[in-house]
Amino acid sequence: MAESQWASVFVDKARDLKDNWRLEFDESIVPKYPNKGWKMTVRNTCARFKCSSCGRVWASNKAMVVFHLRLSYGQGTVKAKPLRQKCKTCDDSPMEEPTVNSGNVPILLENLVEQIRIKCYHEDVGKKTRHFRSFDAKSPHEPAHCEACKQGICPRNKRW
Ligand SMILES: [Zn+2]
Ligand SMILES: [Zn+2]
Repeated sequence: MAESQWASVFVDKARDLKDNWRLEFDESIVPKYPNKGWKMTVRNTCARFKCSSCGRVWASNKAMVVFHLRLSYGQGTVKAKPLRQKCKTCDDSPMEEPTVNSGNVPILLENLVEQIRIKCYHEDVGKKTRHFRSFDAKSPHEPAHCEACKQGICPRNKRW
């Protein structure tokens, strides 16, 4: 799903929050180190990746998206950065961006809104996280090829 669609799905999901919220993508955010005044959450979903060197396509249920959140003077801002993975059959291929399918983007963003309620409004939302539809991923997860593993935030290593 295209980035601009994420923003409009998010606005729809965030409609019931007390303030206006918007979402933008920001490549420059550092997962574990939000700027002063920002909170962070990391959500996982499933996504597909395509190697730009060999054209190989793979699916991962551990595709991670980092979100930094700030509520300031009635305006909420979310900065999103999907973490990349690298093809495991090519040595010098680049880290590739995930493509989250359109069925899972709304689930991911609904879980994000729940995190906003907890972290920015201190609401007790209970445990009702919706689970994404996962792929039948056949090959094992490879930390050396996962940006989230490299940043120390992969759910394989730690619960978020
Ligand atoms: Zn490749
Ligand atoms: Zn990982």
